[in-house]
Amino acid sequence: MTEENIKHEQLIIIGGGPAGLTASIYGARQGVNPLVLNGPEPGGQITTTSELENYPGFPEPIGGFELTQKMTQQAQNFNVRLEFESVETVDFSDDKDRFYIKTDMNEYTAEAVIITTGAEPRTLGLDKEDKLRGNGVSYCATCDAAFFKDQPVAIVGGGDTALWEATFLAKFASKVYIIHRRDKFRGAKILGNRVKAKENIEILWDTEVKELVGDNKLQAIKVINNKTEEETVMEDVNGLFIAIGHKPRTECLDGFIETDDGGYIITDKHQRTNVDGIFAAGDVQDPDYRQVVVAAGSGAKAAIKASEYIEENSDTLSETENIPVQPIPKEKAKADEKNSDNKSKDDNLNLTLNID
Ligand code: NDP
Repeated sequence: MTEENIKHEQLIIIGGGPAGLTASIYGARQGVNPLVLNGPEPGGQITTTSELENYPGFPEPIGGFELTQKMTQQAQNFNVRLEFESVETVDFSDDKDRFYIKTDMNEYTAEAVIITTGAEPRTLGLDKEDKLRGNGVSYCATCDAAFFKDQPVAIVGGGDTALWEATFLAKFASKVYIIHRRDKFRGAKILGNRVKAKENIEILWDTEVKELVGDNKLQAIKVINNKTEEETVMEDVNGLFIAIGHKPRTECLDGFIETDDGGYIITDKHQRTNVDGIFAAGDVQDPDYRQVVVAAGSGAKAAIKASEYIEENSDTLSETENIPVQPIPKEKAKADEKNSDNKSKDDNLNLTLNID
């Protein structure tokens, strides 16, 4: 690609989950005309959550997908542009006045960048784990629980996710085994008490999955008690859910951004990374909370600081296309939201991200 084909932007946001969409809304309102590089699938991890009970402003639970749809609509109301492009490489050297980003379709430079690429589920690293993914092995109970109606399933992990998902699975499955490698949960006491109170949940302490049985479909699992070393084949388990934490998505950053031992981007309280002008928000820099409201809050902070950065550095930067933000009139926004509500009721699996 020649120099003329490189698109120059003020603010690029990599990732279109709650952190990225919130950053885009704030960035647009600050007048820095953000471009969201969303990857091939919109919405991030939250779209796989069936119900959120703890996002403020929604007294009734709201679906993760529906919440993303509303955030997207709100971003569209401020003329935010979303592109379904995956970032392949970057050059975030701080000796240049612009940051370079190459996607599977385009090349860009940006005055500031916000990274909101999220985190993906960790795997156990067992033979056949990858092959059986989607064929009995799942990393998302809220997505796949319904496939195991009235069947026994197992879930690995002892954190909040495993405990919450075990309770969710217990609504569908005939029996849920929680397989945890220690004799104490890591997750919140209230969630631990909840699973202990469920009649169809059984906890296998000090236990690890040793083997997945089955070629094209999970047929059983072999587990081992790590204290007694006793091995058991659980022949009734055709569904295995793995909830052992998440891995931040930072591969495309080519090592330019500092991370901690867990691979999470290190930021200060203003969401600044080690490179001036590069910010990070959401799960990619948050090993602790993994809450939508926290991700959204950090997205807002990142956008405010990124906008300030762009303004402070604007004198030193060469000509940048600065399309003024034109918030749509309130009446139109309301009408759009109403249409979107009706549409989501009719067609809840059809997230609309097209930008006029
Ligand atoms: P955590 O890191 O908290 O827990 C991971 C669990 O998996 C631990 O019990 C760990 O065991 C176990 N584990 C890790 N690796 C392996 C392995 N290789 N084999 C077997 N077991 C393994 O992750 P979560 O996803 O549960 O939670 C992450 C964060 O998100 C937490 O801060 C949590 O509070 C938050 N969260 C909050 C929710 C909420 O509604 N408030 C819901 C979901 C998550 P061990 O304990 O031995 O280390």
